[in-house]
Amino acid sequence: MNPKLLVSILFFCGAAFAQQSADIQFKSTEVVPGLYMIEGVGGFAGGNLGLLTGDDGVILIDDSLPPLSDKMQAAIAKVTGKKVDFVINTHVHGDHTGGNPAMAKAGATIVAHDNIRKRLAANKDFDKTGLPVVTFSDQVTFHLNDKTAHVIHMQNAHTDGDAIIHFKEADVIHTGDLLFNGMFPFIDLNSGGSVNGYIAAQEKILALCGPDTKIIAGHGPMASKADMKANLDVLKDGKKLVGAMIEQGKSEEDVVAANPLAKYHDKYNWQFISTERMTRTLFKSLSK
Ligand SMILES: [Zn+2]
Repeated sequence: MNPKLLVSILFFCGAAFAQQSADIQFKSTEVVPGLYMIEGVGGFAGGNLGLLTGDDGVILIDDSLPPLSDKMQAAIAKVTGKKVDFVINTHVHGDHTGGNPAMAKAGATIVAHDNIRKRLAANKDFDKTGLPVVTFSDQVTFHLNDKTAHVIHMQNAHTDGDAIIHFKEADVIHTGDLLFNGMFPFIDLNSGGSVNGYIAAQEKILALCGPDTKIIAGHGPMASKADMKANLDVLKDGKKLVGAMIEQGKSEEDVVAANPLAKYHDKYNWQFISTERMTRTLFKSLSK
């Protein structure tokens, strides 16, 4: 593992986080009747959560980080007034699966792509009581509260176990980390992600969007179809720019020095994925 990645992981999971977690609160927003986005405010609280609730039962999409499990469960209970029946993990990262053990203990059935279970099972730091107990390879559909939730696997995009959740009638999509709204995306090449897979996944999501589709991004504010397209366009342009330099025989350091993503820096650079890191990810993934 390169030192930079390690620093980034520590940023997400380390002592600094534990200190600031006291300030974090979860905020619920009703997206359409019975379907909520829950986001952490006041510090980094993991990915945005999706929550479907109604007479038939409750589905939670992703479950934040372990130190926040109590707060997260309290925020969910405030909205639903009952226990969570199913948790769907959009991918393996700890800021989306960290609450699995707490949710399993509270009686939820954890559902995830096959590769998420494999990766969590191999992770010695993961509490195995939170392993997914229902897994799928391609897709699975939930039928609850007069809504369908179509869970669709996207191949080798952010990781090798990504899924999006498409609430067709409600016209809402939870993208997991296949959208960092208004930020350069994290594409985890060490966990099976790829630039081409990420672009293909975003194109598939865009094809599911109508003019009024509401999109819950993995990170960042609620998104529209136009936001989704804007983020995809940045990545496609980045691929074009860095790809052309690779074809000219430029080295990774040459490409970083030339800074082909400079025009996107002010809007898309952020703490975890800097413009330089995005450039290196494009170079590494497209050179393969
Ligand atoms: Zn992630």
